[in-house]
Amino acid sequence: MKKNDVFEIEITGLGRDGEGIGHFEGQTFFINGALPGDTVRASVTKLKKTYGYARVLEIVQPSPDRVESVCPVSGRCGGCSLMNYSYIAQLRMKDALVEDDLVRIGGFDRAFIEKIKEPIIGMDDPLHYRNKAQIPVGERSDGKIVTGFYARHSHRIVEPDGKTGCMIGSPDNEEITHAVKSWMYENRINSYDETTGKGLVRHILIRHGVHTGQVMVCLVINGRSIPAADNLVDRLTVACPDITSICININKNKGNAILGERTECIWGEPTITDRVGDISFDISAKSFFQVNPVQMERLYSRALEYADLKGNENVYDLYSGIGTISLFLARKAGHVTGVEVVPDAVKDAVRNARLNGFSNTNFYTGRTEDVLPKLVAQGRPADVIVLDPPRKGAEKEVLDTILSVAPSKIVYVSCDPATLARDLKILCSGGLYELKKYTPVDQFPETMHIETCSLLVRK
Ligand code: SAH
Repeated sequence: MKKNDVFEIEITGLGRDGEGIGHFEGQTFFINGALPGDTVRASVTKLKKTYGYARVLEIVQPSPDRVESVCPVSGRCGGCSLMNYSYIAQLRMKDALVEDDLVRIGGFDRAFIEKIKEPIIGMDDPLHYRNKAQIPVGERSDGKIVTGFYARHSHRIVEPDGKTGCMIGSPDNEEITHAVKSWMYENRINSYDETTGKGLVRHILIRHGVHTGQVMVCLVINGRSIPAADNLVDRLTVACPDITSICININKNKGNAILGERTECIWGEPTITDRVGDISFDISAKSFFQVNPVQMERLYSRALEYADLKGNENVYDLYSGIGTISLFLARKAGHVTGVEVVPDAVKDAVRNARLNGFSNTNFYTGRTEDVLPKLVAQGRPADVIVLDPPRKGAEKEVLDTILSVAPSKIVYVSCDPATLARDLKILCSGGLYELKKYTPVDQFPETMHIETCSLLVRK
């Protein structure tokens, strides 16, 4: 085969970016926009020794799981890759993805995994679930200001449909971005240009406290201040009366990091509040807070259920962020020790513990691989260890330290099935721990991401 060759192929799998995968004449092909169960006519765009990429020319036979996308810009916007895949099929696929990684990477027996796994927890309504949007602001050559989301693997901004807005974001994001654009036009304010490093407005960060109704708008700027701030405040508060906080974040760095170091409140409160269960959290522009509040509560409830606390346990919450899981556990535990590397997140965690009247928690700043061995050396016992690492999983030192402490239970919350499987293999390899059960939880419908909560029990 060679570039531009046209061929017909049946799609049998999905890649990690949501691209269709099929096999043709001994080669594996990755095809954007094709779904498992589709037969497509495609043309080769790139060829390697054993695999290649192709572009869909025509869907010859659509998959029974293919649905009409509810989003007018899906396919062009890089945000959601599964808008054309029925939600039931998404859940089935994610459930299989976790199982396959546990078997392939984790080395677990498939029959065993099928026996212990609990049903995937999906959403009742998989749209408009995000409580946070980071919307890039740009300018076209004719001077039109555009806001939206990046196209796949690019920084080209795709605008959402004016009527529907982003289908996984909050419906009032459209009015908010419209108000910012009007303020920019009226006051002749430019958007930031990545290539020249000039221009002021970079991103609009919007956060919703879903249970409190509070809204924060934070403008990320390449400068120290904004002109006509009163005009912006007026426009925003008229467009969205739920706004309780307007901030600017100063980011004068080149590069892809969205937020800079400093945030200033220009109107209202510097934080918004949201609740997880009956616990309140103060969230600032920079705080890490799970983006799907409905599923977050289900995920943390499952973690709490797996921890099965009786009231006097010493619990570690590793990679604790702003203490969301820690405080969820603290209601039922003797004492909770959180460990987190981002100092601001730890400050939030301490404040959130105080705000909710907890006196049985403390939080340490530092890398888990450095802090945990020290705490253990000081003789702090652990009955239950909960860990929720970033996608790269836990460091080997962390897993070894956990094994040396030998808590009666380990609850592993993971946002990447591959590293979860790798880490569970290490935790179970010595024969001390057994994987008892796990539940995949769909925090990110319409995308390939999946969270998993697993319980390991000391034999
Ligand atoms: N449990 C929290 C946060 C989970 S996200 C929640 O559910 O909200 C993972 C967290 O791990 C982030 O807050 C990140 O800052 C932190 N982190 C990343 N690497 C770390 C490390 N080596 N040691 C400690 N924390 C780390």
